[in-house]
Amino acid sequence: MSVLVTGSTGFIAQHIISHLLEQNYSVIGTARSQTKAATLQKKFGNPSNLSIDVVPDMVKPDAFYEVFEEHGPSIMYVMHVASPFFTESDNYKRDLLIPAVEGTKNILEAIKKFGSETVKHVVITSSVAAMFDFTRDEDPTYTYDEDSWNPDEMQEALIDGGHAYNASKKFAEKLAWKFMEENKSTINFGLTTVCPCYVFGPQQFDENFGSVLNTSCELIHKLVHTSAGAAVDNSFVGNFIDVRDVAKAHIAAIQRPELSGKRLLMISSRFNAQDIYDVMNEDFPELQGNVPKGNPGTGALHHWAGAVADNSRTKELLGFPFNPLRKTIDDTVAQVLRCEK
Ligand code: NDP
Repeated sequence: MSVLVTGSTGFIAQHIISHLLEQNYSVIGTARSQTKAATLQKKFGNPSNLSIDVVPDMVKPDAFYEVFEEHGPSIMYVMHVASPFFTESDNYKRDLLIPAVEGTKNILEAIKKFGSETVKHVVITSSVAAMFDFTRDEDPTYTYDEDSWNPDEMQEALIDGGHAYNASKKFAEKLAWKFMEENKSTINFGLTTVCPCYVFGPQQFDENFGSVLNTSCELIHKLVHTSAGAAVDNSFVGNFIDVRDVAKAHIAAIQRPELSGKRLLMISSRFNAQDIYDVMNEDFPELQGNVPKGNPGTGALHHWAGAVADNSRTKELLGFPFNPLRKTIDDTVAQVLRCEK
């Protein structure tokens, strides 16, 4: 019984794989090159129940065929995590929209072709970006939940990199649910989408630590290196979730039938830069006087009067408490300081 995890080299996928291995699943990851595959295998200590296959380009329609041809009916669950997560590009369609959408289509088509009898459940890592109307963040009359969709279409998607990334997640998730509807008479698997907001937390391995981290963690890394005299930039504001809770949600989705057909809105709490500096200043003496102090206790964690995120259904379905901001930032920053010593 194996779990296929696409994009295994990524920040979130490595935590998912770690949780799966801990629970004795066999894991087949995909990576874009042999070097990346070998490096990841080694980081996990080359366990016998982890193999990494090379899928160089998930945009090719037959991209995942070889994986299914090689592993056949042993693949019981699929977690499609791979998707470009950045906003800098001179070609949003080529770099963001097409890989997100075609990658999702191609994994689903491959499952239909090779695993329609054997794959039991599929989990797709979507995003709050697929759910949220970003024009209404400060509107207190706007509540979004597991049924909400980002209203952006292609015209908005091409405005800038942020819009393109957000739309890439929406278009990919929409495609997935449409695929499920259109193929319901011929497939035997269910779908759950996991929709996180900003995902923070430590890297699975200290060795992952480089001068630049994955997109979401790099934002915290930058705060650690902001000088004490700088103004607190509270335009860095949003909702966050701990990467370990995101990983747990993926595992729950393959273990608990009641999560099938559901979109999981993964939000722990609101935050802004002030809240993160508060944790840094309170919990890391070595950062006091080296990062901005601002006005402690006044951040968005304590007071937020804008859009309301209602993920009560997700919380009830998952049934485990999400890590609070303090724990997530403590563990993230501790790793930054340890690795940069
Ligand atoms: P990472 O950038 O760390 O991981 C992305 C993964 O996707 C990597 O394995 C990467 O491969 C792979 N990938 C990227 N582009 C392509 C492509 N064109 N073809 C094939 N593979 C590709 O990001 P995260 O771990 O943070 O993100 C994982 C998933 O979670 C994504 O779907 C993202 O949209 C979603 N997400 C992330 C959030 C966050 O705050 N981190 C929030 C909400 C959703 P390689 O290593 O070769 O680049």
